[in-house]
Amino acid sequence: MNINITGLSMTYPNGKTALDNISLHMESPHLIGLLGPNGAGKSTLMKLLTAALLPTKGSIRVNDTPLDKAERLLKSQLGYLPQSFGLYDELTVFQFLDYMAALKGIRDSKSTIDRVIAQTNLTEKRRAQIRTLSGGQRQRVGIAQALLGNPAFLIFDEPTVGLDPEERVHFRNLFSQAAQDKLVLLSTHIIEDVQSICNQILVMNHGNILFSGTPEDMIVSASGHVGVFEGAPETDCEITSRINTAKGILCRCVAEKLPRNARKVEPTLEDAYLYLMQKETEKCVS
Ligand code: ADP
Repeated sequence: MNINITGLSMTYPNGKTALDNISLHMESPHLIGLLGPNGAGKSTLMKLLTAALLPTKGSIRVNDTPLDKAERLLKSQLGYLPQSFGLYDELTVFQFLDYMAALKGIRDSKSTIDRVIAQTNLTEKRRAQIRTLSGGQRQRVGIAQALLGNPAFLIFDEPTVGLDPEERVHFRNLFSQAAQDKLVLLSTHIIEDVQSICNQILVMNHGNILFSGTPEDMIVSASGHVGVFEGAPETDCEITSRINTAKGILCRCVAEKLPRNARKVEPTLEDAYLYLMQKETEKCVS
């Protein structure tokens, strides 16, 4: 599956521009992490990709066919977990997935449902009513319905919200496995979610794409702009963490120009993300 986005813009009826002329190519197999602050335009991009919204400008082509002509094809190959996902509280997990499988036109739904229930660790909750589930378990049901029918294109809008650390690791592995032969687009606020598994990262802000590339490229882009120092910085800088050590407090900072008393260290993906956002804020201020 390949998706080509050209000059895509989306302005809502209230005049708010959520996407501003973005262009992008995605193809399977790939696991793409979508990062960006609240309001960056991530959910809008995902909704446009599912044809739930129509863009005000630009085009989306799926396997070289315009999305409005490929909508049926796309929907038959799409698994989508939106940010807010309504579950039918009175149904059991199995009944809900059976209903979703019917909507997707899946034949032999029982074995398909059994598979996604096992993949999302919901076997024990199979007969539980959805209203009795915890937030994390409900999120797992949302992920399970997206996986129904083994779709070639998966879109997850903040799938790990509400999951505990152990569950997050489980789902990271599941997404990574799925991406072996699929296109997976994953939006998240949690950098560790993308660091270990994504082979492409997109960073968005104010409806624009600030960065598109591999996690390694993003880390390299912050090289020389991350440092550590003890005590107070000699010049103003953004301190990103403080660690108590035997010698005192060790501060980590990200800055265009590091304080003179800072020792340069290798950036992490989180440092690189903060550096990118910092440069963006400075651009807006100047
Ligand atoms: P993100 O998913 O990155 O948090 P969104 O795509 O939800 O960002 O939102 C991008 C911008 O569009 C925000 O400023 C948001 O307030 C605005 N927006 C989102 N949905 C609507 C809507 N239905 N009507 C008007 N504005 C919207």
